[in-house]
Amino acid sequence: MGEVISPVDGAGIGVVPGCSVDDVDAAVSRAAAAFETWRHVAPGDRGRLLRRFAAQVDAHLEELALLEVRNAGHTIGNARWEAGNVRDVLDYYAGAPERLTGHQIPVPGGLDVTFHEPLGVVGVIVPWNFPMPIAGWGFAPALAAGNTVVLKPAELTPLTALRLAELARDAGLPDGVFTVLPGRGSVVGERFVTHPAVRKICFTGSTEVGTRIMAGCAAQVKRVTLELGGKSANIVFADADLEKAAATAPYAVFDNAGQDCCARSRILVQRQVYDRFLELLEPAVRAFRVEDPARETAEMGPLISAAHRDRVAGYIDGADVAFTGSCPDGPGFWYAPTVLLAGSPADRHWREEVFGPVVSVLPFDDEADAIRLANDTEYGLSGSIWTRDVGRAVRVARAVESGNLSVNSHSSVRYWTPFGGMKRSGLGRELGPDALHAFTDVKNVFIGTEE
Ligand code: NAP
Ligand code: MG
Repeated sequence: MGEVISPVDGAGIGVVPGCSVDDVDAAVSRAAAAFETWRHVAPGDRGRLLRRFAAQVDAHLEELALLEVRNAGHTIGNARWEAGNVRDVLDYYAGAPERLTGHQIPVPGGLDVTFHEPLGVVGVIVPWNFPMPIAGWGFAPALAAGNTVVLKPAELTPLTALRLAELARDAGLPDGVFTVLPGRGSVVGERFVTHPAVRKICFTGSTEVGTRIMAGCAAQVKRVTLELGGKSANIVFADADLEKAAATAPYAVFDNAGQDCCARSRILVQRQVYDRFLELLEPAVRAFRVEDPARETAEMGPLISAAHRDRVAGYIDGADVAFTGSCPDGPGFWYAPTVLLAGSPADRHWREEVFGPVVSVLPFDDEADAIRLANDTEYGLSGSIWTRDVGRAVRVARAVESGNLSVNSHSSVRYWTPFGGMKRSGLGRELGPDALHAFTDVKNVFIGTEE
């Protein structure tokens, strides 16, 4: 129990015992006690401690990156970006404590002011696909707003979160302010939901588990932010820069071996350029470098586990495979990039989140058809629109029911812009200037001034 496996070669790389319910209760008590002092730390001092935490992450960036290459099979280039993202998110929210201002509202007979009060202990539950960034998107704004944090990493990928907790301590964060509690979702995660002193859950993971967490939180009217699954569309119009659209499409879905909630896993191509697009896509997919993720040239590593590889492979049964890339054989949970032709929008691989390096392609007729097909899903996380027509780009971006769209680009995430899903892809927004408010409640105070 608790053995950590490297997906690169299947080797054991350590044992991390899981916490029990009693361990969680003890940690939440410490976090609740720490909250009473942390919330009163002067804003500038709280910011300074978070900046020191960021500096610790920066000083150990390569170590953290290598840990993620080993534990999660991420490419070294991605893993460096991920550790750097934790640093940047900490630095960004380190500027927030002094700026957490309320309103002064004109009222007769007194003074009316609002405060953004911290909630208390915040429980952050993290999946295995981006262990570092997703942890940081929760704990950095939560701490900046004056909350204390208990964080559960995924059982498969606890190593970087545990190291981040040590770096926080080395940076001088007081005991109990930020605690990492490895263990099972059904034990540690569920206890976060049921523990009355945990005042908010910040969850990233599957729509299935997220739905249960929301129901669990309802019993205590516990605050909840959900970042869930996706099945995002990459819409390519006939007037687009087809070469660029085809050359970049593999990165938009095969990055992190497709284990990305923002993966553009449905490519919609306007019918008159459908054949040409596939001709351009094929060499780009065949050239995609799937190799030992520690190599500087790697563009994709293995899938997270043998069980997940079996799940991904299940989507290929009976599907129309257009072409595939290549991957190493031998140990490790490798899977080659795969392009499927959808027969219709009813195909299982077109509808369900595969969460692997598999992309489905379908032709469409016109703008209205593209929007209808893009929105024919329960999800709404991200998406891309390729066209040279500015008016169309804006119309389609407004019409696609999704939280994060890019035009002639596949970018979804910047720490200073909001991120999150519509429909069953989630609830609430992370990152950007407003995320702090998701970790506070507004308090209104009226002070009578009449004699
Ligand atoms: P998952 O099964 O939902 O697990 C996510 C986290 O929740 C893990 O830490 C897991 O613990 C924990 N958990 C499991 N059951 C729980 C319960 N009953 N109560 C509380 N916590 C529980 O998801 P996954 O398999 O790790 O990740 C894949 C999914 O995450 C995909 O569907 C993907 O789309 C989604 N995802 C979404 C985003 C986004 O930002 N929208 C980002 C990344 C991933 P264990 O350690 O026991 O698994
Ligand atoms: Mg799971």
